[in-house]
Amino acid sequence: MSYNELRKDFLLDRWVVIATERARRPTDFVKQKKEQAQASVCPMCPGNEHMTPPATLVYLKSDGGIVKDKDTASLRHKNWLIRCVPNLYPAFGPPKEQLDPASIMKTDNFGLAVGHHEVLVESPQHDGHPADAELPQLIHVINGYVDRLRDLSAKSYVQYVSIFRNHGQEAGASLTHAHSQIIAMPFVPTIVDAEVEASMDFWNQHQKCAFCDLIERETKSPRFIQEDEYFAVLAPYASVNPMEFWIIPKRHDANILSLTDAEKEAFAKTLKTTLKALKDLVNDPPYNYGIHLSINKQAQDCYHWHLEVYPRLAIWAGFEKSTGIYINTITPETAATEFRKAIKS
Ligand SMILES: [Zn+2]
Ligand SMILES: [Zn+2]
Ligand SMILES: [Zn+2]
Repeated sequence: MSYNELRKDFLLDRWVVIATERARRPTDFVKQKKEQAQASVCPMCPGNEHMTPPATLVYLKSDGGIVKDKDTASLRHKNWLIRCVPNLYPAFGPPKEQLDPASIMKTDNFGLAVGHHEVLVESPQHDGHPADAELPQLIHVINGYVDRLRDLSAKSYVQYVSIFRNHGQEAGASLTHAHSQIIAMPFVPTIVDAEVEASMDFWNQHQKCAFCDLIERETKSPRFIQEDEYFAVLAPYASVNPMEFWIIPKRHDANILSLTDAEKEAFAKTLKTTLKALKDLVNDPPYNYGIHLSINKQAQDCYHWHLEVYPRLAIWAGFEKSTGIYINTITPETAATEFRKAIKS
């Protein structure tokens, strides 16, 4: 008799049951789309700028170039390409007075949720999601990520900046307008911290980066999806989510601050191609993505930034929630094969 496989993440202490016996295909997950209840007025659409707090960053078109600016209390820029605004109900809020960083994380189990929580409106077009967006627009989004990361990571009380995207109501997007979120926070979140720690251990043992090593190995594996000069895309060996994939830059760097123009363009292209393939394969499923990065100087050599995409195709219930072990019913090898086919066609 054959068994399902138990697989452990290459860095994290996280186990997955790859349910090869009841292996499924992406088409098994295609659902009829429910009409998502639409807010009568979209606060992110052009013309409704007064419905949000003043933007911390806007890109404006000017003589074929881009001008970057901010709103003020009395001025809301119009005709923007992207705009980044504070979240009305922030999970992490800006410090109200000069705060000594030591007074934020007060003890080992108590701290103040000091930071910033912003929404990056990715396009003036309500439905300008990455799978369908024009490439130049997606490059603006990536430039927006970089600009906000630069600004937020320079603040003394910020230890991490999480850049993520929720797509579809079931993935937590309460508004359907194309947007990402950016949360700056006073400590490094657990998953990233565990990746950084494990990368340091790997570095000390092998004198090389675990992700550079991963690219070398996995681009020759059945989990390889696509690559160009700058980025590799893989279905991770111990994928937690059906159809999960990671976009990893080939040039070693701990974060996105020094991306070149050519790398930004390649990143935008890769993001669009892969998210379009996901949309085609599973009828525009809900998904989340998040960038893992480090702004800690000590981690520059050993940590390697990447973007993880988690399609929302499984419902995690008692077993997953009570054990932290996941059951994935699409093997990463099947996911990669399907992606390669969808990208080619
Ligand atoms: Zn809208
Ligand atoms: Zn590396
Ligand atoms: Zn990661």
